[in-house]
Amino acid sequence: MKEEARYDFFRRELMAWFARSHRPMPWKGEKDPYLVWLSEVILQQTRVEQGLPYFERFRAAYPDVGSLAEAPEDELMKMWEGLGYYSRARNLQQAARFIVQELGGQFPATYDGLLRLKGVGPYTAAAIASFAFGLPHAVVDGNVFRVLARFFGIEASVDSSAGKKQFAGLAQALLSREQPGSHNQALMDFGATQCTPRSPNCTACPLHTACRAFQQGRVEELPRKGKKPAKKERFFHYLIFNRNGMAWIRKRTEKDIWRNLYEFPLLELARPAQAEADIRNSTCWEQRLGAGATARVSQASRPFSQVLTHQKIQATFWEIGLADEAPFNSEGLIAVKRENLSKFAFPRIIDWYLNDNSLYLEDSLTNIKPHLP
Ligand code: SF4
Repeated sequence: MKEEARYDFFRRELMAWFARSHRPMPWKGEKDPYLVWLSEVILQQTRVEQGLPYFERFRAAYPDVGSLAEAPEDELMKMWEGLGYYSRARNLQQAARFIVQELGGQFPATYDGLLRLKGVGPYTAAAIASFAFGLPHAVVDGNVFRVLARFFGIEASVDSSAGKKQFAGLAQALLSREQPGSHNQALMDFGATQCTPRSPNCTACPLHTACRAFQQGRVEELPRKGKKPAKKERFFHYLIFNRNGMAWIRKRTEKDIWRNLYEFPLLELARPAQAEADIRNSTCWEQRLGAGATARVSQASRPFSQVLTHQKIQATFWEIGLADEAPFNSEGLIAVKRENLSKFAFPRIIDWYLNDNSLYLEDSLTNIKPHLP
């Protein structure tokens, strides 16, 4: 099949498949650029089933760019809690404020204008431009890489800059000029539900007669990816100081993961703690309780793990009971009743601990060691 005919076949069969397999979602067919943007940002790195209730909640709480711009930051982070990649939420609000303050509340209506919004890259700009404004910009995400790599038998790695350029050029050349929004949506849906990463049902695929990967038995090999760098491992120890039903938390403000979320006083070590002495001899313990403090560690949790894009976090939680008269330095901390902790936005790993009381190790330091790696 000649290349031009291959393009035509691809477009025709893709759109026919889309007409048959259309998955109704609240953001599909949406023309309001604000709602398209909101849905795209929520769905980045998130499964549709998980993102859907968040989209509904955000749309109800912040129906337009003005209400998002004015949302209290803590409220926004709490709404976002559980979605991860919190910089997306911060960027959303910064961009909303930019639109209100610098653009008179008018959403940018061009691809280049969209790219000026904080957190909006080529993918999101193309999605908003094509869905909301019908502009001919092709979206290129992981699903699109996979479909194009397989159908056209492309060997270039999707994470090399030459590969990215090649895929972006091909996606743009394939794009339907008459229906760019539907074409983009169809291609993304096709990658998500038909040309899946593992074990796609190729014999039932409408593209299989011309799909190079299928014809050449290379479906599992494509798309090619470079080796990922190893994730950095970090070991967090959260010290939960308790007194009369109160605990102390702080807001993370450093330029690091989970900025603007809350946490308990943190001791970060280069390795897992081997014994309670590692906690007692730490600067964090001394800063809060003073040298030689005799406070009692009443519980230590099992290790909890959370894998982020570039890091793997292992967290252990140490419950420390404070007597009424015991000195405690609460500088930089907020005292909160334990029953009110759920009102604050925490990283997921802390939520897991708080929701997992049944897994605490019981009140015995002699029991700690066997549970730590
Ligand atoms: S035949 Fe298989 S590999 Fe090719 S496009 Fe269809 S699902 Fe993807």
